[in-house]
Amino acid sequence: MVYSAQENRYETMKYNRVGRSGLKLPAISLGLWHNFGGVDTFENGRNMLLRAFDLGITHFDLANNYGPPPGSAEEMFGQVLKKDLAPYRDELIISSKAGYTMWPGPYGDFGSRKYLIASLDQSLKRMGLEYVDIFYSHRPDPNTPLEETMQALDHMVRSGKALYVGLSNYSAEQTEKAVDILRQLGTPLLIHQPKYSMFERWIEHGLQDVLDREGVGSIAFCPLAQGLLTSKYLNGVPESSRAASSTGALQKDQITPEALRKIRALNQVASSRGQSLAQFSLSWVLRGGRLSSALIGASRVSQIEENVAALNKLDFTEEELSRVETILKT
Ligand code: NDP
Repeated sequence: MVYSAQENRYETMKYNRVGRSGLKLPAISLGLWHNFGGVDTFENGRNMLLRAFDLGITHFDLANNYGPPPGSAEEMFGQVLKKDLAPYRDELIISSKAGYTMWPGPYGDFGSRKYLIASLDQSLKRMGLEYVDIFYSHRPDPNTPLEETMQALDHMVRSGKALYVGLSNYSAEQTEKAVDILRQLGTPLLIHQPKYSMFERWIEHGLQDVLDREGVGSIAFCPLAQGLLTSKYLNGVPESSRAASSTGALQKDQITPEALRKIRALNQVASSRGQSLAQFSLSWVLRGGRLSSALIGASRVSQIEENVAALNKLDFTEEELSRVETILKT
C-alpha cells in the first residue's frame, strides 16, 4: 500500500525548542533500539514508524548497533524511508550514534576519530541517507582525548554528513568540557541524551544545570524504564514483553517486589489524574519544560497512541509531585 501522511499530523503534537538552537523536537520522540531489528517483524516496525509520523512524531532515534543484529535497525529504517517516508525527508529529524562495540579490532568501539567517522559513513549507507540530522558520541571514552572526539563531531558537520551533534551518557563534568571545546571549534553542542525516569534521576544532580546554563537541549532515554513504569508488569510478566524476550535488555530480576510496590503506588496516582501509568511517567519526565523531548520505545502501535496522549496533561499539582517523592523514597 502506498503511504500518504495524515494531513492533520501537526495539529496536536507539541514541539519544544532544543536548548538555545533553532531546532525544535516533538515532546515525544521514537527510538529504534528494540523491535525494529532483523529479528523483528518488518511490517510491525513499519506500522509503528508511520503511525508515529502521523501523530506528529518527527524525530526517530537510531544508533549503529541497534538491532539485533547490530546495524539491522538502520537497514530497516532505510527501507521504510525508501518505500514510504522519502517524500517527507525534510520533515524528519533522524539521529544516529557510535560509541559502543560495532566491529572487531581496535577501530570499532569508543570515541576515536577513526571509529566515529567510519561508523557514520556506514550508518548513512545502511539508511540510504546523505546526512543525519543529529550525530551522537554514544558514550565517553576514557582513553581518547576529548578534543579528538569533539573534532570528529565538528568534522562531520563541516563535511555535510551531520547537521547537529550530541552527546550521550556523558557526566556533567565531561559535558561542560565538551561544550567548551565544541564552542571553540564553531560547532555548538545541540543536545545531550541521558537516561532519565522516575527510577533514574542522576541528571538532577548537576547535568541539568550545566545544560540549562549552556543552552544545550536534552532528550531522555528509557523514560518508561523499559516498560517498568507502565501497567505492563503489574500482574506478572506477560509473554509478549521485553522482560520475557530473549533479545530484550530488561531482565526479569529487575522486577523486584520493591519496584512493584512503587509501580503499584505510582499507578494509583496516575489513575487519580485520569492517566495510565505510561502517560503519567512521560508527563512526569516532561514536567516543568526542562527537557526537549522524551524518547520512548514501543513494541506496538497502540503503545505509541497511548503514550502521545500523555501530552494532554502535563501539569502537576504540588500534592501530586510530593506523593511521587514519597513513593520513590519508600
Ligand atoms: P522506554 O523506557 O520508553 O521503554 C519502551 C518499552 O516500554 C516498549 O518497548 C514497551 O515494551 C514498553 N511500553 C511502551 N509504552 C507502553 C505502554 N503504553 N504500555 C505498556 N508498555 C509500554 O524506552 P526504551 O528503553 O525503549 O528506550 C527508548 C529509546 O531510547 C531507544 O529506542 C533508543 O533510541 C534510546 N536509548 C538510548 C540509549 C543511549 O545510550 N543513548 C540507551 C537506551 C535507549 P514491550 O516490548 O515489553 O511492550
